[in-house]
Amino acid sequence: MLPPRLLAAALVLLPFLSASAAEPVLLLRAARVFDGVGEVRTGVSVLVRGGRIAEVGEQVAAPPGAEVIELGDATLLPGLIDAHTHLALHAGDYDQQVLRETPELRTIHAVVSARKTLEAGVTTVRDLGNEAAGFADLALRDAVAQGLVPGPRVLAAIRPVTSSGAYGLTGYSPYLALPPLASSADGVGEVRREVRRLLSQGADVVKIYLESYEKKQPREDLLTGAMNYSREELAALVEEAHRGQVKVAAHTYSDQAAQLALEVGVDSIEHGLYLSEATFRRMAKQGVVYVPTLLVYELWRDGALFGGVTPQKKQQLASTCAEHSRSLKRALASGVKIAFGSDTFELPGTNPRELELLVRDGMKPLDALRAGTSVAAGLLGLEQVTGTLRPGLAADLLAVRGDPRRDMAALREVLLVVKGGVVQVDARRRPPPAP
Ligand SMILES: [Zn+2]
Repeated sequence: MLPPRLLAAALVLLPFLSASAAEPVLLLRAARVFDGVGEVRTGVSVLVRGGRIAEVGEQVAAPPGAEVIELGDATLLPGLIDAHTHLALHAGDYDQQVLRETPELRTIHAVVSARKTLEAGVTTVRDLGNEAAGFADLALRDAVAQGLVPGPRVLAAIRPVTSSGAYGLTGYSPYLALPPLASSADGVGEVRREVRRLLSQGADVVKIYLESYEKKQPREDLLTGAMNYSREELAALVEEAHRGQVKVAAHTYSDQAAQLALEVGVDSIEHGLYLSEATFRRMAKQGVVYVPTLLVYELWRDGALFGGVTPQKKQQLASTCAEHSRSLKRALASGVKIAFGSDTFELPGTNPRELELLVRDGMKPLDALRAGTSVAAGLLGLEQVTGTLRPGLAADLLAVRGDPRRDMAALREVLLVVKGGVVQVDARRRPPPAP
């Protein structure tokens, strides 16, 4: 009989000692290693065993049978975490896909988008609602977890919650029954019921729309919307989600909506187009995370979404993007936590460009990489799972050519993607492109 302390040690070591020969062991070497939190280090190797990070250090030798991956002039970092995606929305006419396609077809689109997202180095996403695509996000989450299809680890919101008539297709006869793009819930009772229903169906996060573009746009010159909920409804919604131990992500444009969201205790503000520094300071104090999603509005302005824009819309979106950038600068000055979220629903695989925009607008490159790894992991409640290169965590890794501290566009040059210790992309083995 072993003394309890030795027994405990043996139990801790058991998974390592019992590692079979079938358990792949990888040793990765790159010119630079960023662990998701600290500074970039040189001369460091990462050992992966049984799907997890086993060791990170300078003196790590390759165990017998290990596959050694020499990445050369590359930066190795944790796989990216995109805190705002919509994998079952795809390119092309928006109304067309919602009205003419089945959720089953949209689920197949989601499978394709998931693979493209993973190949761009994103190993985890928080998918915030898929607008009349049924349970596509849950099916994708489970299919990826079961290894049926390649894709990032998915946290799913299923259906965003909002008030009646606040989020839907516009411009149709009121006699038509249109597919709902979100859950409608009015009053404290309905709001509680809908959150409970979402949790029982397996939602990992609750997404709410605090403002409605569809109901009323108070201004022409900027993207705006009217407020959807009373304080009582929102407080009940957040209380119910937190009781179920899931966080609340609040789609919010105006400062007024963000203030209300903070009063009721949401966990993240998504978009936050027009927030004041006082609001950001309050977010910092309450530990609420800002997910700006700059990329989607710039793609929309540039005609890359929804099949293009009119000159008037382009002008409105250009002003919106300029104001959004100013908000981000105020956020940077306030010390609020900022997480990477692209919202790039039509162009899967472009997600990491969000980090380029964060740097363009004044974020330090290392902080942008933290936003895309450890900070996003904290927001998703996955800090014990992924987002940093810490022994025991999932071996989710991304290697890119060059040094993203010098130019964040290095993230476009993906050399290697590993998820849970399994190599998903290895550009070194890819055949050269045809002449
Ligand atoms: Zn979104």
